[in-house]
Amino acid sequence: MIPVTRPYLPDREKLQCYIDGIYARQYLTNNGPLVQELTRRLENYLGVENLLLVSNGTLALQIAYRALGISGQAHGERVEAITTPFSFAATASSLKWEGVEPVFGDIDPDTWCLDPASIEPALTTCTRAIVPVHVFGNACEVEAIEAIARRHRLKVIYDGAHAFGVTYRDRSLLVHGDATTLSFHATKLFHTVEGGAIIFKHKEDLERAALLINFGISGPDKIDTLGINAKMNEFQAAMGLCVLDEIEANLKEREAIWRLYAYALGNHYQMQRLNSHSRYNYAYFPVACRDEKELLREVDRLARAEIQVRRYFYPSLDQVQAFSDRKTHSISDDLARRVMCLPVYQGLDAGIVLQQLSSISEVA
Ligand SMILES: *Cc1c(COP(=O)(O)O)cnc(C)c1O
Repeated sequence: MIPVTRPYLPDREKLQCYIDGIYARQYLTNNGPLVQELTRRLENYLGVENLLLVSNGTLALQIAYRALGISGQAHGERVEAITTPFSFAATASSLKWEGVEPVFGDIDPDTWCLDPASIEPALTTCTRAIVPVHVFGNACEVEAIEAIARRHRLKVIYDGAHAFGVTYRDRSLLVHGDATTLSFHATKLFHTVEGGAIIFKHKEDLERAALLINFGISGPDKIDTLGINAKMNEFQAAMGLCVLDEIEANLKEREAIWRLYAYALGNHYQMQRLNSHSRYNYAYFPVACRDEKELLREVDRLARAEIQVRRYFYPSLDQVQAFSDRKTHSISDDLARRVMCLPVYQGLDAGIVLQQLSSISEVA
């Protein structure tokens, strides 16, 4: 079976060296030397400041809301955030979990990211934040979103789980907003087995978040605030350092696969329109079929040819009872029924996938 994705496993001897170091120091967690080293190296590689490593990408979102003071639980009042329905469950669940009501805007039918025009009609007196997603690594319309945020004094937290290494107008995309979060889950482009990061615009917010991820403990015998445990550990950081060392080769290979697909399939399927001011990271290859029936037929047929494709992201989050009781007819709902992601990972023979796909298109 060709899986839709495969975790990247770096050189094992190098990982062993890092683990030998952990054994020698006997320092396993609590902002250890490898977590500090990975923090510096990621800031450097990504071209960002104020990066905080955390235990996963979902807590990265939750800690960001807390540190920026928009969490509803912290204030005991109704708080809403405008977000996109076309994303992974964690974008909406992280808001709910923090007592913030996700209010869904809609997506642009071409870019598949939150449509800035859908934000203002969804605002109420309870709106405190906008949570857009650079979905599949495609840069959102950051200027338009941030202009709306300024006009209405809202915080912007980008879910950048797919946007590792993406640039926008020759700078890191991840410097936009009051914060951008990353996921370093095993299936993501860059990973630490489980893990994540928050990139803050302001250092004070990073300092507040650093306290939050360590139980609110500010020093010996001192608890400053209500915190939680969201720390990254040394083993996670060791994996991250090894994956980062090999990232360029990984990116190159993904790009080659992506371009091969795009050349062969670009006329057959609707593809996501990528932001033209952005350099893409080739993290995913999503395509949209004409309708759900065609999609189901192709998913089924590829499965019989031992190729796994996945329905990312289905269902559209505005259709999920746990997140919203106001079901809408959205562009996102229509798209979510038609989109599938093709396999992309280092070591994949994309030719085999293409062979199967072309036999589909001949039959169809
Ligand atoms: C993977 C992902 C997350 C959650 O990250 P975890 O590290 O798995 O907790 C959040 N948002 C999006 C869009 C994701 O794809």
